[in-house]
Amino acid sequence: MAIISLIKLGESHYYSLIRAAIESWPREVMGEIYGKRHSDTLRITNVYEFVTAKRLPTSVSYGNDEAIKRLRRLDEVIRRNKYLKSKLVGGFHTHVIGRSNRDLLRKEQNSLSKDDLNFIKDEMNIAGLNEWIEILVRIERKTYSTIKRPSKTLTYSSKKMKIKIRDFPHQGYDITFSAFHIDKNLKVKEIKIRNGEMLKSA
Ligand SMILES: [Zn+2]
Repeated sequence: MAIISLIKLGESHYYSLIRAAIESWPREVMGEIYGKRHSDTLRITNVYEFVTAKRLPTSVSYGNDEAIKRLRRLDEVIRRNKYLKSKLVGGFHTHVIGRSNRDLLRKEQNSLSKDDLNFIKDEMNIAGLNEWIEILVRIERKTYSTIKRPSKTLTYSSKKMKIKIRDFPHQGYDITFSAFHIDKNLKVKEIKIRNGEMLKSA
């Protein structure tokens, strides 16, 4: 089977990820993504934030083992249904730009860390998957001395999506979506991520 080279988000998943990133700011947030594959394109069908995850400004982990066990059990039951075409395909998490990582190169802020890959390796084992898709959302809060009108812009840059949100007169967020394919040997390949709804109208 061809390797996945394009991730298409639906309008609601696109907004769910932006909302989760902004609501949790300045803490990181994580969750699972479900999708359906059509040759080299993966269409995201669901995005679930882990509401019980322990959020820290520089990392996020499972905060509540019992809650995670319940979710695993639920996932098992859902996945047992062979007629269900939407499957767990990977996860997402945010990188919040703050004091601890501001000095990293932009490329590193938009990359998976060693800890991220170790976490993904465990997740792949638990889920019995031999490939994984991780959506990384880099979020940086911006403040302005001059008044900005409320606005939202979306631009595509190479494989990434960049969203600029100005939600308050002197404040906003710069958000970058990156997506990665990780194989069973933990080889990482960046893939293109797009808002599927916008593609249709373009
Ligand atoms: Zn990370």
